[in-house]
Amino acid sequence: MDWDRARLHTAFGTRDVWIWGAMIVGQGVCRALQRAGLTVAGFIDSSPAMQGQTALGYPVCAPESVLDRARDGHAFIVIGSGHHDQVIEDRCRAHGLTAERDYLSSRRLNDIDPSVDVSGLCNLHCISCPQGNLSDRPPTGFMGLDAYKAILRKLLDELPFLGSVQLYAWGEPLLNRRLPDMIAATREARVLSAISTNLKSARDLEAVVAARPDWIKVSASGYGASYAVGHTGGDWERFLANLHRLSRLRARHHPELQIVLNYHLYRHSLGESYRAMRALCDELGFIFRPNMAYLYSLDNVLDYVEGRPLSPEAERTLELMLLDIDSGLERARRRRHLPCPEERCLPINWDGRVRFCGVYFKPFIADDFLATPLSEILARRQGSEFCRRCMSHGLHHYTAVYLEERILEDGLPAGVESDQRTDVDADD
Ligand code: SF4
Ligand code: SF4
Repeated sequence: MDWDRARLHTAFGTRDVWIWGAMIVGQGVCRALQRAGLTVAGFIDSSPAMQGQTALGYPVCAPESVLDRARDGHAFIVIGSGHHDQVIEDRCRAHGLTAERDYLSSRRLNDIDPSVDVSGLCNLHCISCPQGNLSDRPPTGFMGLDAYKAILRKLLDELPFLGSVQLYAWGEPLLNRRLPDMIAATREARVLSAISTNLKSARDLEAVVAARPDWIKVSASGYGASYAVGHTGGDWERFLANLHRLSRLRARHHPELQIVLNYHLYRHSLGESYRAMRALCDELGFIFRPNMAYLYSLDNVLDYVEGRPLSPEAERTLELMLLDIDSGLERARRRRHLPCPEERCLPINWDGRVRFCGVYFKPFIADDFLATPLSEILARRQGSEFCRRCMSHGLHHYTAVYLEERILEDGLPAGVESDQRTDVDADD
């Protein structure tokens, strides 16, 4: 990385610094700049759901006014977005801004977003997830606190502008009893911590919230009776009670905590379920983020495109998906010439091994993160035979195809054929 603190300081000059992207990546950029002693004015986000909110105590504004200020030489924009950075750069250029003079992609500071799967176990077996749809799963267990602290230290040594650490990947982090200490250690290191939970077990929820993570994502895929179709093994009443409890704990211990409810859209989770969940989020003050559900992990999708059979759970997911997999893959194939957005991921497993990347469950690329320089891990992956195979099918853009879909008022994705609307309303 060719940018350091001094160069940033010179580039910013006396201008206000705004971070474009108020979600995890952008907030991580904020933490990294703060750690380097640089001042931030606030966040910009294109999502109306984020505008008017605060993130890490800073205001979140719509882009237009800040773009004008940047064009007039009063603001500098640092782009901090996981999947939309190219689109944002295009908007900056279209507004007359010049790269490095008026705006900078945070990839120039740090292009790695690590996740540490502190729990290899999950207490649900969702049909769209490898925990529910793959039978030959690697061994499971929990990461210890000392191991986590050592990993965090190595990450900070190797990535001076490290912004955030996700304390989850494919497991339920609340099952690890040391999670509150891990969150506290991350906060002490001035790195943003994010967790994602299914809220099935709230045993340590109060200690977790009191440890002050920056970001909690809760996932759901239905409301009431439809909840457990996708969140297999889940109990709606318990989940609902824990959502309310989380809201109360935030008020008591950590009002700045951002809570996002990630709502997976299937054929069964639209219409009334969608509206009810959105209303509940409004009531509880959670950010409602719907996105299309898709078959995960890519181990399954690779099997599908290469003609190997899928498990019954994976097949069931295909039946419930709104954008059918062949259409999704066709859209992804059209983008196969584009760089891989998943190269940012560095998924460290509970036992210290490193997974190939964030979207595959089975392949590993290093047996011991602590004993392997990050540069070597990245070199092994770059240009590897496995990446070539994945890219030849366009799979590196498979998740982006589903995540980027614009969602309409009733929860139906804009790009899904309108004749499905009839099915949906009827099923409700
Ligand atoms: S999607 Fe989340 S909650 Fe469901 S099985 Fe996978 S890790 Fe567990
Ligand atoms: S090309 Fe495929 S395997 Fe390689 S990092 Fe990207 S998504 Fe992962």
